[in-house]
Amino acid sequence: RGLAIGIDIGGTKVAAGLIDGDGRVLAEARRSTPGQDPREVESVIEDLVAELSANHHVWSVGIGAAGWMDLAGSTVLFSPHLAWRNEPLRENLERLLRRRVYLVNDADGAAWAEWRFGSGLGQSRLVCVTLGTGIGGAMIMDGRLERGRFGVAGEFGHQIIMPGGQRCECGNRGCWEQYASGNALGREARELAAANSPVAQELLRAVDGNISDITGAVVTKMALDGDQASVELLEEVGQWLGLGLANLAAALDPGMFVVGGGLSAAGDLLLEPARRSFARNLTGRGFRPAARLELAALGPAAGMIGAADLSRIAARR
Ligand code: BGC
Ligand code: ZN
Repeated sequence: RGLAIGIDIGGTKVAAGLIDGDGRVLAEARRSTPGQDPREVESVIEDLVAELSANHHVWSVGIGAAGWMDLAGSTVLFSPHLAWRNEPLRENLERLLRRRVYLVNDADGAAWAEWRFGSGLGQSRLVCVTLGTGIGGAMIMDGRLERGRFGVAGEFGHQIIMPGGQRCECGNRGCWEQYASGNALGREARELAAANSPVAQELLRAVDGNISDITGAVVTKMALDGDQASVELLEEVGQWLGLGLANLAAALDPGMFVVGGGLSAAGDLLLEPARRSFARNLTGRGFRPAARLELAALGPAAGMIGAADLSRIAARR
């Protein structure tokens, strides 16, 4: 069985891996996401594929991207965080790479990997959310990725949970991802720091006073190091997370939620408040079984592993 390359294109970085049939990452490479030109993203992909396939026979390439893919895996319809608008990305890449290419939504890729090889192994109804620049969502029902009629099911991050709330890149206001993503965590922390609160002292010190350098990743690291303000900021995000998952449980009734993406590095500092808020907001609580909330086992590599695996399956057809 051949090896596949999986490439995860997020709002800030492009991560690529050479993946074997058991979901193991044999080699890895990464770049930062180039700006607004789709051609630049294509050449970064070309570069990464060349690097990873230099000494191996590669069977297919799977691209997991933070965008809305059509059902055929050919076109990126839209992306709130990236430059694609109705972009025939598969055709462009197959021409460029002279290989089979398959496109998936980044969260679909992550969910698939967690179901095949990770925390959600074999679950009959699994819902996965990835917390990073935005919130990605995906569901696997009876061993099948549920992609909706047009390929764009699972855009949970853009459920409006606060009408008139924070502006979202998708154009609406009050989307869930404005409250429970890595970006949301960074924004809240910068606001705290800008308020000149003594509470934010340690955070400010960590970025040498440059408030704009405070990101979700910085807050996560600070929280893991024991900074109380950062722990509280994560708690707040965790509460929003649990509330959104309770809404999803009302609609989808999965047996398990897997929480992945960069922000999941916070571990229990995020998951414990999320579990409490989930339990408190779950409709019918006390009279129904409740889904488990688990961390993604494959961590940030889930997206590329799943994209690679799905491309292998698609290429076999
Ligand atoms: C996008 C999704 C993507 C998610 C995570 C959201 O804003 O709409 O397509 O999966 O961010 O990257
Ligand atoms: Zn939105």
